Amino acid sequence: MTARRAELAANRVAVLERIAAAARLAGREPADVTLIAVTKTFPADDVVTLADLGQRDVAENRDQEAAGKAAAVAAAAPDHPAVAGLRWHFVGQLQRNKVASVVQYADVVHSVDRARLVTALDTAAARHRDRPLEVLLQVDLRPLVAVTGPAPSIGERGGVLPDDLLALAGTVTRSDNLQLGGLMAVAPLGANPAEAFARLADLAERLRGEFPQARIISAGMSGDADAAIAYGATHVRIGTALLGGRSARLM
Ligand SMILES: *Cc1c(COP(=O)(O)O)cnc(C)c1O
Repeated sequence: MTARRAELAANRVAVLERIAAAARLAGREPADVTLIAVTKTFPADDVVTLADLGQRDVAENRDQEAAGKAAAVAAAAPDHPAVAGLRWHFVGQLQRNKVASVVQYADVVHSVDRARLVTALDTAAARHRDRPLEVLLQVDLRPLVAVTGPAPSIGERGGVLPDDLLALAGTVTRSDNLQLGGLMAVAPLGANPAEAFARLADLAERLRGEFPQARIISAGMSGDADAAIAYGATHVRIGTALLGGRSARLM
């Protein structure tokens, strides 16, 4: 076993234990929380190794990086059969000119936050996919929580405003080539993550009231996954705790 493989294996066990502990503390089943490995800035080899170790869900946030990485990972399939079972999640801000590329490797897009993006994804999915694309609506939680410290620059994280969420969900459900999976959010900078995830849980319940199929809550990163799980996250997106720091890397 290479040193990197041993490191990823140990990190993954620790993260899965942390997820299980947080789930039990909340009276939930560990199996009801899916670990998504956020592999941005890390090489395709790491994705292949994680797949070998049993990791099924991986995420990227930039099409330019992800498209090449997904192709490199797919090319490793003959020697690494687990690669074929990977589910790719796209979690970054998405421009319409990248949509045709993203729908070709992504199984789930977490960052849908405006109607024009829904339309573009629907059209691209019709053209480039043989099955529907699962989408999550990214919510901007800033209107719902107290934020301290310097005001973050407007739109830095993206996300639909809470008041516009149900209308956007309707746009998705009227799209032939998209499936509404649920919600995604990032705890706002300067906010208490628990408060943010509690508001997200309220929104998720309202959404499910109208769209029962929308059961996913994608919330929680390395620093706040425990709070997210306490408030019902079904999918946590973990980069640093699994793969290591990105400080010397691009982001
Ligand atoms: C990078 C990223 C993550 C993972 O963050 P870590 O703090 O490294 O765990 C999660 N979600 C999104 C949208 C990201 O861009």
